[in-house]
Amino acid sequence: MHERQLRAQMVQIARLCYDRGLLVAMDGNLSALLPGGEVLCTRAGCHKGLLTEDDLIVCDRRGKKLRGEGEPTSELRMHLAAYDERPDVRAVVHAHPPIAVAFTLADVSLASCVLPEVVLTLGVVPTVRYATTGTETLAEALRPYLRQHDCVLMDRHGAVCVGGDLLRAFCNLETLEHTAKIIKAARDLGGAKALPADEAVKLRSLGLGRYGGPPEAVARKDAPGADLPPSCTCDGGAAPAAVEGGARTAGLVAAALSAAPAAGGPSARAVPAPAKAPVTAPVDEGALVDALAREVLAALGRR
Ligand SMILES: [Zn+2]
Repeated sequence: MHERQLRAQMVQIARLCYDRGLLVAMDGNLSALLPGGEVLCTRAGCHKGLLTEDDLIVCDRRGKKLRGEGEPTSELRMHLAAYDERPDVRAVVHAHPPIAVAFTLADVSLASCVLPEVVLTLGVVPTVRYATTGTETLAEALRPYLRQHDCVLMDRHGAVCVGGDLLRAFCNLETLEHTAKIIKAARDLGGAKALPADEAVKLRSLGLGRYGGPPEAVARKDAPGADLPPSCTCDGGAAPAAVEGGARTAGLVAAALSAAPAAGGPSARAVPAPAKAPVTAPVDEGALVDALAREVLAALGRR
């Protein structure tokens, strides 16, 4: 895509991010590779809902400004890390999707296999441990995750979504927030049940073959489930005992299960799991203990 078209598309996608509530005020930043390999990005301190083509800056691949008014976004390092790690990536969208970020604050992982179409197309979304925004530390922490995922959450911060073009990167962001909303609604209703492990593995394998994905993940499409975290391939959904015990008990148990910080992405395989704060999800512990006690007594009574 020529620079002129890319500039127009970046303005359009930035406004969509704002209109969809995926960022506010001066939040977030976007970038895309120009045909010559330079980086077109948003400047620091501009409102994405009011973005114009004059707010775009051209940098080299090390982040040095080549053209444009103002300074490039202070978070450019993580965009450059994505381009370094992924030859297939030509666009990066970073935003602060509110519900998805709330999951990181509650220490509830979105590296879970819950919705079939998300497993098929996006896989799971891991969370990178907290690091100060705009720093090299954060960009370095993102690298191993970006090699295996098109969408990564940053603890207490936001999402980095990548794609072969700006629309694909934006769609990944939109899917992330939509998924977070659905899972939150399910949790509010009592719990979000996981896909059975065999179905999650089948869907992911199918998706990598059909839609592609990060090269490191695609390379594993012949090893079904290899790019899924253990939480997707071991749990196999809510425990049968919980389902037998009725909706309320099932919900409590499912909430307790899904409140455990699930590993995801490289943290599950190549990178040590990020140090997490103790689980603080709003599980009613007293009610849970009561429900489990009733289950045990009922089971004993059935003997
Ligand atoms: Zn940010």
